[in-house]
Amino acid sequence: MVVIGGGFGGLFCARRLGGADVDVILLDRAASHVFQPLLYQCATGTLSIGQISRSLREELARHRNVTTLLGEAVDLDPVARRVTARRPDDTTFTLDYDALVLAAGMRQSYFGHEEFAKWAPGMKTLDDALSIRRRLFAAFEIAETLAPGPERDAWLTFAVTGGGPTGVELAGQIREMATNALAHEFHSIQPEEARVLLFDGGHSVLSSFAPALSAKAATTLQRLGVELHLGAHVTDVRAHGITVSPKGGGPSEEYATRTVLWTAGVEAVPFARRVAEVLGASTDHSGRIAVDADLSVPGHPEVFVIGDLVGRDNLPGVAENAMQGGLHAASCIRRDLAGRERADYHYRDLGSAAYISRRHALLQAGPVKLAGFLGWLAWGLIHITFLTGVQNRISTVATWLAAIARARRTDRSFMLGGSATEEQPYTWSACGPFELPARESRSVAD
Ligand SMILES: Cc1cc2nc3c(=O)[nH]c(=O)nc-3n(C[C@H](O)[C@H](O)[C@H](O)COP(=O)(O)OP(=O)(O)OC[C@H]3O[C@@H](n4cnc5c(N)ncnc54)[C@H](O)[C@@H]3O)c2cc1C
Repeated sequence: MVVIGGGFGGLFCARRLGGADVDVILLDRAASHVFQPLLYQCATGTLSIGQISRSLREELARHRNVTTLLGEAVDLDPVARRVTARRPDDTTFTLDYDALVLAAGMRQSYFGHEEFAKWAPGMKTLDDALSIRRRLFAAFEIAETLAPGPERDAWLTFAVTGGGPTGVELAGQIREMATNALAHEFHSIQPEEARVLLFDGGHSVLSSFAPALSAKAATTLQRLGVELHLGAHVTDVRAHGITVSPKGGGPSEEYATRTVLWTAGVEAVPFARRVAEVLGASTDHSGRIAVDADLSVPGHPEVFVIGDLVGRDNLPGVAENAMQGGLHAASCIRRDLAGRERADYHYRDLGSAAYISRRHALLQAGPVKLAGFLGWLAWGLIHITFLTGVQNRISTVATWLAAIARARRTDRSFMLGGSATEEQPYTWSACGPFELPARESRSVAD
């Protein structure tokens, strides 16, 4: 069988099939499992990429029936049951399957305004985190070399779109970084004067949390110095600034900024759209694929869809749903092998958490609602529990303790590259053998 994607869903599925009487191939375009919930800590210099990711080959080495391969799935022939994958050097190879698990996740959506990606990286991959790190730290460095004035102010203004967990975490971290780690290191600029603007089309940040928790998050962000702009749509992104339009109508506003980070929306990765097309499966507006109760595609019991790509019962795009989906698909395959009937998938909601700043996080699990310090402790425990690899857990805890004690950020190195260069998030698929169906154009919401 072939599993496409080594994120939370694909990894848990492949692990559960370890030792089963089946040959498993796990294909991933990046060859490593990334712990996405801590990407923002990597982007803002607290953790290294090694601490939040692990080679899939190393992770699965003990399962002799599981092979990991590097390649981006680009096409599917459901009749021949064959996946075409592309290597980084643009050559292709094929993989035949009896069963297929699609766990390729979502990518950032610009709601039909792909041109924004050039100036506003999203936050989904290690490349994104390193690109953001380069932009953030380079912005302070560039400002240090400029005379006081509008140009310097624009480099010290940071715009974040999307008031969900990722946007909130990034905005809070940039202010914390400016007011703590960087505060006393510069001579010309005052990093703590950096402005962080957070835009969201809704009326609250972290709207998936209970209203009282969401209100506490807003207060904490404002205390940190994050400027909240709610009910506001970012309608244009350029090299030197953004345009923002009020949701209820009225005049647009321009903000001069050289750093824009985009966390506003998600959509299915290109290959998932291709799979839906060739299988004749229906999708929602973001490209999530409709599945039967056992997570297989209607009319194709041999193809499972798991994780963020599942379009059923409003299942949330969270790690827990992907992990449970991966275990479920593996259990269906084991049952098939044993000649037993498949069970239906039932998601168990174990709650959600969001980091806001040092000593402040939210945790919501059933009737339990925590904010502030207790929420922060719970958040830390949960993240350490699910981080892949014992070594990563130990080193992350050590780094966090050091960062708490000394407010330092030790992973600030970045690769060379212009701070205003174009991002190419899915380079390999840009020259794919198929044309993606044109996405409906939507107004830029939150
Ligand atoms: C910044 C951020 C913070 C988050 N914070 C939280 C949190 O605090 N708590 C929480 O529960 N959830 C959080 N999430 C959501 C959670 O990470 C996702 O729900 C989860 O990763 C989904 O798992 P998945 O297996 O469906 O996809 P992913 O984990 O996204 O994995 C998809 C994999 O598929 C690979 N891939 C993609 N296309 C192809 C292709 N064509 N061929 C081969 N491989 C391919 C990718 O390289 C990737 O490894 C966060 C997400 C982000 C981005």
